[in-house]
Order: sequence, then structure tokens, then C-alpha cells
Amino acid sequence: MRSLNRVTISRAALIHNFSVCRQLAGGAAILPLVKADGYGHGLIDCARVFAEQGAAAFGVAEVVEGMRLRQAGITQPVLILAGVIPQTLSALVEADLTPVLVERSMVAELSRLAGLSGKKLAVHLKLDAGMGRQGLLPEDFIATVQAVQGAEHLYLGGVMAHLPMADDRQSVNSAEVLRTFVDTTNQLSGLIKGKCCLHLANSGGLFYVAGARLDMVRPGIALYGYYPDGAAGKTVATPPLLQPAMRFTSRVLQVREVPAGRGLGYSHLFTTIRPTTLAVIPVGYDDGYLRILTNRAQVLVNGPRAPVVGRISMNLSLVDVTALGPVQPGDEVVLLGRQGAEEITADDIAAWMGTINYEVLCLLGNLNDREMVD
Ligand SMILES: *Cc1c(COP(=O)(O)O)cnc(C)c1O
Repeated sequence: MRSLNRVTISRAALIHNFSVCRQLAGGAAILPLVKADGYGHGLIDCARVFAEQGAAAFGVAEVVEGMRLRQAGITQPVLILAGVIPQTLSALVEADLTPVLVERSMVAELSRLAGLSGKKLAVHLKLDAGMGRQGLLPEDFIATVQAVQGAEHLYLGGVMAHLPMADDRQSVNSAEVLRTFVDTTNQLSGLIKGKCCLHLANSGGLFYVAGARLDMVRPGIALYGYYPDGAAGKTVATPPLLQPAMRFTSRVLQVREVPAGRGLGYSHLFTTIRPTTLAVIPVGYDDGYLRILTNRAQVLVNGPRAPVVGRISMNLSLVDVTALGPVQPGDEVVLLGRQGAEEITADDIAAWMGTINYEVLCLLGNLNDREMVD
């Protein structure tokens, strides 16, 4: 028996979005970001779809996610983007994952462990080219490259940096970060023999930053059907548009009539001003439908939009369906996604919550029963 609340992920939308990214990437390889359980869309399912479409590698935050990909049979390189600590190195080597080093200290131990398992392990270096969060400062770059080169069982497979403002198409920051990254990595010529993969662009970099594609691009949000700058991005995008892959639905539990002047739910945050027909739905903050959505959100019931009224509780919410046609227990309620001609997007929900589409997808996707369709 399954929950009445259900997240469905459209495989066709993921494939479409991958092809949009591939077109924009030109010849650059594609590393899909599947961290956060594929932004709420499912780590393994998404990785399999993108692998079939030609993903060159995958990006996750932690070693444990990489191990799950290996257990599922994913053979592409998997980059551990958030960094590694001594305690995770042996698991990383064992699973043949690719560490992204943010400092020099782990080089010797990593090489020793790689040697023990008879491997020559690729490492990528993360440069802080302006993100200001993590990574090597440009002045420490060459010494770290030399440390990797001096390690018997390691080689430099790539160098990356991250863009802090690629979602802002007006910002000059991305061009500056790109320049710092290119200037710093230019010092590699003559220093290293083999091919070293340079990569910088997240979705914003891929869509909005000229020259940022380099050898490989790292889209995340775009693959799941959303623009890094939300609804604004969609309005100026050139076709083919991205297609949101996630839908979140529930069912009407009960339909009830209440008179005017009734307070609804905890703290009576809504009072009816006319005789009102309410649809009760089994959705609440436990499902990622957070309390901040109280009296703000809308859902689709049999087509049209209807407002969520009264405080959202742990597992129940109320929808005012007075203006709608007949509603029955069991009718589908769409909290995210399309129903007929209408659509509620993660950008809509993000606006009601005061956040970004990324957070909405992670919340709803990772807190509900999920399945991939078509
Ligand atoms: C999450 C992440 C990305 C993807 O960012 P999007 O904005 O979702 O495209 C790219 N690179 C790194 C290092 C990341 O952590």
C-alpha cells in the first residue's frame, strides 16, 4: 500500500533536458550533478537515464553517494565534489571514485592507499577562483599540482572551480572568475603531460556565461527542468525550453461545507467570509509542504487553481474549492506540475516560500514516495 502523496519523475523530461544541455555544451563533455538524491529526482534512476544519454561522469557531494552509484552499476567517473577527509579515503579508493582535493594535505595518504590497491588514481583539484567557499587559492595552485605529480600513485585528471553568480546574467563576476580560472590553469602548460580536464560551468555557466564551457560542463538544475534564475530565466530563454521533470500529487480525502465566519485549522489563521467548500488533503510539512505556504500556496483540483487556506499542519491541509465545479473524495490534487492546461511550477512554490526552485525540488522529491514514469 502506498501513500496518497506521490512524486513522479518524467524520464522523457530528463532526456529532453539532457539534450538541451548537450546542444548548449557544444563539444564539451557533460557531468550531471546527481547530489541531493538527484535534486530530489532519485540518484540512481537519474544517473541511469543520464548515463544512457551519454554523460561522461557524475558529480555528488559525498563518498557515500558515489558508493551507491557504484553499487547500482554506474561505471563512469564519479567526482566527490565536496571534498574528502582521511576517514573516507579508503572507501573512496575502493569504490574507484574521483576525489576533488581542496588542499594539499591528503595527497600523500591518498597516493599510499591507491598504491596499496594497485591503482593509479585520478584526482581533480578545486580552485577558489572567486567562489570564496572552498578550494585552493590561485597562489597555492602550482605547489599543489606539483605535490600531485610527485605522488607515485596519483595523477592530475582535472581542475575545476565554481561560479558564485552564474544565475545573474547581469553580473560581471562570472567573467572575472572565468578569467582567474583560465589564467591560473594556463600555468599547467609545460608542467603536465597528459590531458587535464578543465571544468567550471554549472547550469548558469552553461546557459549564460560565454566561454565557460571549457572541456566539461556540470549542469544540475537544468537537467531537472528549471533555470538557475527561476521564472525569470524561463521568460527570456530561447526554445527549446527545459521541461520540469517532477510532479507532486495527492488525493482529496474529504469534501466539506462550512458556513461563513468559521476559523480554520490551528490558530485560526484563516476565517471563511462566505459559505465555503473545503477539500481536505493529506499533505503537510512532513511531506516538505512547509508551514510557510499557509494561506499562500495554490494547488490544481480537476484543472483550475484553488487556494490553500488555514495553517498547514503535519499531515493535513485545506483547499478552498468553493469556486470550482464538483469535487469528490479521491480526486487528484496537483501540488507541483501540470493538470490539464494549468501548471504549478517549483518557481511558483519557491516564490510563495521565499526561496529557490532547487530547495523546493529537494524538499518535495526527497520526502515523498517517488517513482519514475514514461
Ligand atoms: C551543485 C553543483 C553544480 C550544479 O549547479 P546547478 O546550478 O544546479 O547547475 C555544479 N558544480 C558544483 C561544484 C556543484 O556543487
